[in-house]
Amino acid sequence: MKKICNSCKREYHHGNDFLNNTSRWRMGPQDTLYFNCSCQSTLAMRLGKYDWYKPDINIAEGRKSLFHKLKLSEKLPPIQPAVYEIQYELSKADVSIQKVCGYLRKEPTLTATILGAASSKADCNISQVDHAIPYLGYQQVADLVLAAAMNQFKVPSRYFSWDDFWAEAFLNGRISENLAKEYLS
Ligand SMILES: [Zn+2]
Repeated sequence: MKKICNSCKREYHHGNDFLNNTSRWRMGPQDTLYFNCSCQSTLAMRLGKYDWYKPDINIAEGRKSLFHKLKLSEKLPPIQPAVYEIQYELSKADVSIQKVCGYLRKEPTLTATILGAASSKADCNISQVDHAIPYLGYQQVADLVLAAAMNQFKVPSRYFSWDDFWAEAFLNGRISENLAKEYLS
């Protein structure tokens, strides 16, 4: 069984495809692997759905037992399940905006982020999530949701400020987006 990216139609057939020219791999609940396709769309692979995808596929036989003793998920900061559900829904060919809204309603911080981003893009007040989602586009919603979730990790540090980091990251993103519109059209 192959996996096909709905945006660029790239096909994934075997265990190494999802490591080539892809980015931002992350594990969600039930060992679902999320990553960004070469076209930047978020893709999700549920464990067991593709016989060629297993988390330990590239680990030598003798070391597999050691790998399974490591419970990484217990050490990593938890991301709200809604974030994965939203990303999974947005990665499908037939996105249900109703479902995405349903998940967002459980997470007021994420909802506020989406409404704020849509309002600032439209330069007027957008107060309905089901209007904001198509306005921003699925990919931007997926990115914003993940960024907002990661923003909630508070890593105490005297040398590093998450607020400054994200403010700078978003500013760079907006500038790049505007430059791209100006020069690539
Ligand atoms: Zn793609």
